[in-house]
Amino acid sequence: MRFSQAFIRTTKEDPGDAEIISHKLLMRAGMIRKLASGIYIIMPLANLTIKKIENIIRTEMNSAGAQEVIMPCVLPANLWKETGRWEVYGSEMLKIKDRAEREYCFGPTHEEVITDLVRRDIKSYKQLPVILYQIQTKFRDEIRPRFGLMRAREFTMKDAYSFEASQEQLDVNYKKMHAAYCNIFKRCGLKYTVVEADSGAIGGSSSNEFMVIAPSGEDAIVYCDKCDYSANVEKATTKIDKILGQAEKPSGEKPEKIHTPGAATIDDLSKFMKVPKKKLCKILFFTNGKAANDGREDVVALISGEFELNEIKLKNYLNFINLELIPSEEVQKRTGAYPGFGGPLNLNPNIRVIADNSIKHISDFVVGANEKDYHVKNVNLSDFKVTDFTDLMMVDDSHPCPKCEGTLKKTRGIEVGHIFKLGTKYSTALGANFIDENGQEKPIIMGCYGIGVGRTMQSAVEQNNDDNGIAWPMPIAPFHVILVLLNCNDEAQKNCAEELYEKMKAAGVEVIYDDRNEKPGFKFKDADLLGIPIRITVGRYVGEGKVEFKRRLAKEPTLIGVNEVVDIVKAEIAKEIRGL
Ligand code: ATP
Ligand code: MG
Repeated sequence: MRFSQAFIRTTKEDPGDAEIISHKLLMRAGMIRKLASGIYIIMPLANLTIKKIENIIRTEMNSAGAQEVIMPCVLPANLWKETGRWEVYGSEMLKIKDRAEREYCFGPTHEEVITDLVRRDIKSYKQLPVILYQIQTKFRDEIRPRFGLMRAREFTMKDAYSFEASQEQLDVNYKKMHAAYCNIFKRCGLKYTVVEADSGAIGGSSSNEFMVIAPSGEDAIVYCDKCDYSANVEKATTKIDKILGQAEKPSGEKPEKIHTPGAATIDDLSKFMKVPKKKLCKILFFTNGKAANDGREDVVALISGEFELNEIKLKNYLNFINLELIPSEEVQKRTGAYPGFGGPLNLNPNIRVIADNSIKHISDFVVGANEKDYHVKNVNLSDFKVTDFTDLMMVDDSHPCPKCEGTLKKTRGIEVGHIFKLGTKYSTALGANFIDENGQEKPIIMGCYGIGVGRTMQSAVEQNNDDNGIAWPMPIAPFHVILVLLNCNDEAQKNCAEELYEKMKAAGVEVIYDDRNEKPGFKFKDADLLGIPIRITVGRYVGEGKVEFKRRLAKEPTLIGVNEVVDIVKAEIAKEIRGL
């Protein structure tokens, strides 16, 4: 490709709404263009990268035995109504109507459609297992589209679905997909980690997220400094007894009301009462957000003041679709607790009290008295009712590893892929059954596996850049080489560059040739911004039969012979791309 003919327009200015470096750089490099909030045009250079990522995905999925299908984007409502997700999916689903007022949505995901396909065609265990996938456009009306392609509303996803006759078959396929994902992200040149993930209200044993480590990532993750444990904080656990120790025997002293004017926060109270934070019992008030006459459920959650409450864990435990805080002006009426000075004593008798396991590790603790400016000390578990104990704590940096003697470290990641054992949720809802070896009818077991294609591309930029621009990993770079002709008016330089351009193309090197009649500095700036991994500059050493060779992140170029260019470039590319 000749730069002079390419549809590329770079800019110096950062776009106003870009908060993270990859978004800024993709916009400045003219690789993506915003059409509307969360809706982007993929420009020619980015498209080359996207196609490479898709091909890597395709090769790995195919070699894991998955078969590609293409499902529609516009999906009829009836399937979603069958599983109940027409209502449950919420406002991320874009609903539309045709001219006959029939309802559809623009597919945010495809479990319903694929399960419908399979229920019509698979009848016997002999047809199982099977894995189907597609690379296709999704639409999710995200509440906060941001960071360019990272959290877009319209985006490309590779979604795969596996169908099995037994848990063992699912385990095998899950492992195959896990391995395929590792290959995919490695081949894309990404530094990633696999974490245990929250598997949502469906529960189930396995869900893993593939995280590209980046400070700008939206997900907090923890990993052990000694073993291979690593998890999304939504799911992470620790050893509470190593932090809090075992509960001491209650002192036997009676609960006593204490005047604690103004001490409404854990820190204030800890100072005021001269009690360690772990001995303060925090209380929080949640609801499923429904109206009082429409299935509203309110709950109270308790946790030691040493920890933060993990709302995802609570939401999953309660199996709520929504988990919201009860508005503070309604807390007293609905729960019997006084906000700011709330505690588990004398709550409304019918309210559920869910306590974090940490409460079992403390004794003679302090709770709110449910009365303004008062707390109660010397409280123990025998003084109030707990409906259930469970793990509700938010694991943090420096907490002990749940698996070994190591310590957890906290970092941030971008979720580029997610694999998930679904079980029979969708097959049961849609009646996708098969006849097993013993002639019995059973629901098909399923797994699902997603990769955000645009998010993967942008994560590569987030991880590979410097002050001057992008530095694409070789396997997904739009071009391998940028050939820069320094002086268009110098015949020798021009002839040499033209010749090198033709030679590289003939040798299968993907090369963009900057033949524009522009100043050298201008061309170098563009080459850096676009992030092409190898730069070959044809300039004043042509007379000596030499050109400059520079890797994108190298400080200085080196001189190489004109005749060596093709071999050196090919070797460099081969080093970094498997199978070239
Ligand atoms: P997130 O927690 O980031 O919203 P999710 O759990 O909704 O992700 P999945 O439904 O598991 O995502 O989708 C599979 C993959 O699709 C994700 O791992 C991610 O790479 C990609 N993806 C999801 N939502 C978006 C989006 N709004 N923009 C770009 N890619 C997305
Ligand atoms: Mg989402």
